[in-house]
Amino acid sequence: MTISPAQFSRVALVPLLLLVAACSPLVVLDAGHEPSHPGAIATCGKPEADYNEAVVTALAGALDGYRVLLTHNAHTDVTADINSLSAYLSPEAQLKWPQRKTLFARAALANKNNADVFISIHHDSTAARWQVNDPDLCKGNGGKKLAAAFKQQYRIGFNIFINANKVEPCRSRSLKIAQLIAKRLLAIGRVASDYHLDDCKSCRSIDSQLGIWHEDLAVLREAAMPAVLIEVGNIVDPDDEAVISTSGFQQQFAQIIKAALAEYFAASPLRGPTAARAYPACASL
Ligand SMILES: [Zn+2]
Repeated sequence: MTISPAQFSRVALVPLLLLVAACSPLVVLDAGHEPSHPGAIATCGKPEADYNEAVVTALAGALDGYRVLLTHNAHTDVTADINSLSAYLSPEAQLKWPQRKTLFARAALANKNNADVFISIHHDSTAARWQVNDPDLCKGNGGKKLAAAFKQQYRIGFNIFINANKVEPCRSRSLKIAQLIAKRLLAIGRVASDYHLDDCKSCRSIDSQLGIWHEDLAVLREAAMPAVLIEVGNIVDPDDEAVISTSGFQQQFAQIIKAALAEYFAASPLRGPTAARAYPACASL
């Protein structure tokens, strides 16, 4: 059958576009924390969850060409379909599920939807012993900042976590995504933190220069696909907070993630139903 260009545009192009849309990678974006668990508190008292949501909003807007699923909406706890999600977790997580539903649900949503990549966005703080009060901060209302000795001793900036205990290819793909993001962040002048060497007993450095760490975090462990958790910066360091809280930086950060994902997907096949069967241990379901 011969199809004219005009017919093609009507008959073939629409299904083709739908097919492309259905085959585009599914990226789950997780804004860490939520109103009931707001996370760290910044220099002037703003909750970490607000910073995380701002970055995820920028990311969701930047990732055209992808299917994007948010684990929850801004200023809203994770609630979507929550009681049906425990089936998409490991047996170990199912035992803990009743106490930690809104945490495990994030990975469960990604598993249920067979996501290709899971990205959780956080902002970091430090142990209280490394923070001091400064009455001049926050327009004279006073606020917290990092102790001078801490800033002199350590690099302050971003961290990227993966779970190095994941089975292959999830482990190496998670690391690849972390490397692609870290290199781009360094290229724009961001600094890879090193203070978790001393203040995080459960962290293990994978690449100190790139700020990549292993930690057995629930969302990374339970996500049955390549997964990274990014601490964008430190919100109790007024210098870092002033940079990372701007919409200009958040847009730049979003473009970095987009470019890193483009390079990653150019070299890595999508999971999809067929790929998922090719490495079922990666799914652990
Ligand atoms: Zn956090």
